[in-house]
Amino acid sequence: MGLLFVDSHCHLHDERVFPDMQQLVARARKAGVRTMVSCATMEENFDRTAGLAASYGEILPCFGIHPWFLDSLSCDWQQRLETFLTAHRSGIGETGLDFMDKKANRDLQIRVFSHHLKLAMDLERPINIHIRKAWDTFIHLLKKMGPLKTPGLIHSFSGSADMIPLLEKYNLYISFSGSVTRPNAKKGVKALGAVSRTRLILETDTPDLYPSIPGVLENKRNEPKNLPAIAQIAAQRANMGYEEFVNHAYTNSLILFKTLLP
Ligand SMILES: [Zn+2]
Repeated sequence: MGLLFVDSHCHLHDERVFPDMQQLVARARKAGVRTMVSCATMEENFDRTAGLAASYGEILPCFGIHPWFLDSLSCDWQQRLETFLTAHRSGIGETGLDFMDKKANRDLQIRVFSHHLKLAMDLERPINIHIRKAWDTFIHLLKKMGPLKTPGLIHSFSGSADMIPLLEKYNLYISFSGSVTRPNAKKGVKALGAVSRTRLILETDTPDLYPSIPGVLENKRNEPKNLPAIAQIAAQRANMGYEEFVNHAYTNSLILFKTLLP
């Protein structure tokens, strides 16, 4: 049997990949991708994400509001989010903090993200987290809350390697995407080396973050079938054998999403 993969963070509701779903899922199966964790990003795509999970056994849904899309919040978003979470076997996300844009409303981001963290605790669901340029605030929130009861993951990790032991202590897994395949991904490669083997996760972030694969043009939409190619380069850069690397990531994903698997 070939190696198996879990795409721990992707967006299959996205219009760039959604119309081609049957073929995309067939290509993923052929590549050994057994499970795809598809994250909604705002209320508008909750229905489509739930529908994808209903149509394809290998798609697991997550519901959440991405920090980029807080303008889309309806007045009863909390109610809606909870309705979807309780109606479906699902995780929480994509949610998080992104202070890249200096004009972003940080207070609102913190309020919305804190609500997601609380739901993860109360409903005992895995949480799919996006953090960019907001590490101090995130760690402050974690310390206030204490370790997660159900594990979570930091998707496409962009922080410094020194933070990793603390994040692991708070029951977080660390996920790597096509970003670590970039020739200039020094910080990412250092982080890759700092993650415990029992905490390492892989994702594509489909349709974004197309990996740098030698000989392949990058201006394409990404998809879950690229996971083996990402793993190959990431394993090399982590100085780990390919099979060993893939097996760790696979086993860790099964533990992380245990409560969502049939
Ligand atoms: Zn994402």
